[in-house]
Amino acid sequence: MHGRSTKRGVSQPSDALYGRVMESLALYIHWPFCLSKCPYCDFNSHVRAEIPRARMVAALRAELAYEAARIGGRRLTSIFFGGGTPSLMAPEDVAALIGDAARLFTPAADIEITLEANPTSIEAGRFAGYAEAGVNRVSIGVQSLDEAALRFLGREHTAGQAQAAIELARGIFPRLSFDLIYARPGQDEAGWRAELRTALGLAADHLSLYQLTIEPGTKFATLYGRGAFALPEDGLAAALYDATAEEAARFGLAAYEISNYARPGGESRHNLAYWRYQDYAGIGPGAHGRITLADGLWATSRHRGPEAWADLVETRGTGITVEDAVSAQDRAREALLMGLRLAEGIDCAGFERRTGTRLKDAVDAGVLRDCVDAGYLTLDERRLVATVEGRKRLDALLPALVK
Ligand code: SF4
Repeated sequence: MHGRSTKRGVSQPSDALYGRVMESLALYIHWPFCLSKCPYCDFNSHVRAEIPRARMVAALRAELAYEAARIGGRRLTSIFFGGGTPSLMAPEDVAALIGDAARLFTPAADIEITLEANPTSIEAGRFAGYAEAGVNRVSIGVQSLDEAALRFLGREHTAGQAQAAIELARGIFPRLSFDLIYARPGQDEAGWRAELRTALGLAADHLSLYQLTIEPGTKFATLYGRGAFALPEDGLAAALYDATAEEAARFGLAAYEISNYARPGGESRHNLAYWRYQDYAGIGPGAHGRITLADGLWATSRHRGPEAWADLVETRGTGITVEDAVSAQDRAREALLMGLRLAEGIDCAGFERRTGTRLKDAVDAGVLRDCVDAGYLTLDERRLVATVEGRKRLDALLPALVK
């Protein structure tokens, strides 16, 4: 599988470029296995009777070394173990990867190292081992504190296990986030507010609160298509979104991104790197990267199948299947799509430096004027920002706004 635009051969690291680009780096490591497939999930996750642990870890370590040789020993600001379910990894494997990253790159003194975890009791039992390995933040896939909702969402844990895992994690990790899914079938505002208040009472510095969406190719897409359940209509979904922000604010958490809430300083630095359109490397099956080299910004993606990805790593050092130069137009488009998700919006000077395009030249002037007049966007000399009302409508606004 290959992309369309200018390509670099994937078997040779671009060694002429070493040391000349010193953008800081966020590192993503993908663990592609789960105990079962949740019916709403379209992530690159796979269920296996037996996880080929040793092979996967060896391939991840090999690909990390390949990536470091390709892009140089940059300052590493974050590592994020995502999935799949990285809490199925052995703590010693997590420690080995963190150790490799620390040796191959230059870790920032305050590096953020996050691991996504599911709250079954077995996985929670590994928390202390992950902390010992260097993980300083966990993101727990709680999804709901309501037993019937957990069953509907196909989760492997109970609400009680989720609460216990959160409490355990609070005592072990300096930073903690957990996810909830709302706007579920049959959910009303009072019920969601009550569930959210319980969650906020358990929360530390960060929460991710997502509305349920039906993703193509999932089990829910089939069931929804057959009319097996209905989602809240738009008016109720909007009311639930507003209620979410209101309740979170009461507990001191602000929406710094459409679905992410944090106390000041509690923002996910790793995810901020994506939204601020900074450099990130991704290793593992299906992982993506955006890396600045001396000749521009390059987009990489890797084979999604775990075994096929490992075959590629074993034969040529990397599972990269696409490596494309990102055109000026795509740089501007991607930076806009990401940056307008953030409450802080987009820094105009930074945008121009990063994309090579003036922000005003990247958007349709007429649509921009209309959005500002309608109160969806604000623009001054320094920043373009989507307001709360604008962020609610971003999916509808962006196709017209972005050139
Ligand atoms: S545990 Fe997470 S990654 Fe795995 S199937 Fe469920 S939602 Fe997807």
